[in-house]
Amino acid sequence: MPVNSSPIALVTGASRGIGRATALLLAKRGYRICINYCQDHSAARSLVSEIETLGAESLLVCANIADESAVCEMFDLLDQRWGRIDALVNNAGILHTQSTIEGLTAERINLILQTNVTGTFLCCREAVKRMAKRHGGSGGAIVNVSSAAARSGSPFEYLDYAASKGAMDTLTKGLSIEVAAEGIRVNGVRPGFIYTDMHADGGEPDRVDRIKSSLPMQRGGRPEEIAAAIVWLLSEEASYSTGSVLDLAGGK
Ligand code: NAD
Repeated sequence: MPVNSSPIALVTGASRGIGRATALLLAKRGYRICINYCQDHSAARSLVSEIETLGAESLLVCANIADESAVCEMFDLLDQRWGRIDALVNNAGILHTQSTIEGLTAERINLILQTNVTGTFLCCREAVKRMAKRHGGSGGAIVNVSSAAARSGSPFEYLDYAASKGAMDTLTKGLSIEVAAEGIRVNGVRPGFIYTDMHADGGEPDRVDRIKSSLPMQRGGRPEEIAAAIVWLLSEEASYSTGSVLDLAGGK
């Protein structure tokens, strides 16, 4: 039987939004995809069908990325299925409703940090163990999905979320240096306002119009526009890029 040499990617939080667009574009580019999701099983199943229609292989894994044993089990399943990982997209993330510092509780802050920061660390750790040349791996590429909020700090809105994304950017930089000699590149993207269900809550009624008018490009972004940059950073075309975090925020 011929050996399948298609690269293998894991995308966290892939059932919708930016993760879904990224998984679909990777499938179009010939990757086999491990689709991680947390709750929305039917949306994840429909992504599997779409990927199959594209003629690509997928592996569906339900795992909370903030749970260390669930992350380890997910990577074990990936090992059993394909025995390798070439690309990781740390996309899963959460955002709570708008709040100033006075409305933040330890419980809420910890939930954000456990998902956006701890979850990203755990997936990076498991991917590095498998990609590193010193462990017999053949290198790889990681992209962390941060946010423009990491630069602005999101005062009066999402201080906790912004701080979690700042931590992700620092991880991207430090890890990129730690694993460069292992043939692993680590980059990030900082999307601005992107039309996804993350904003389903909406906040104040005029929030979207206010954001759009504050942007040089006067519009929000589409998930596909973020996916294109992620897939480029994973590709050989970005072979000299590591430790970079690309701003994708309509000029802001
Ligand atoms: P989304 O809410 O549509 O998707 C996030 C996905 O992550 C969901 O499928 C959710 O189930 C999953 N997820 C959440 N917690 C998880 C966990 N513990 N384990 C596994 N999966 C989990 O949002 P999106 O807009 O597509 O966001 C994707 C990424 O982009 C996030 O990291 C987000 O912070 C970032 N981002 C989004 C925007 C935007 O405007 N939409 C802007 C900047 C950054």
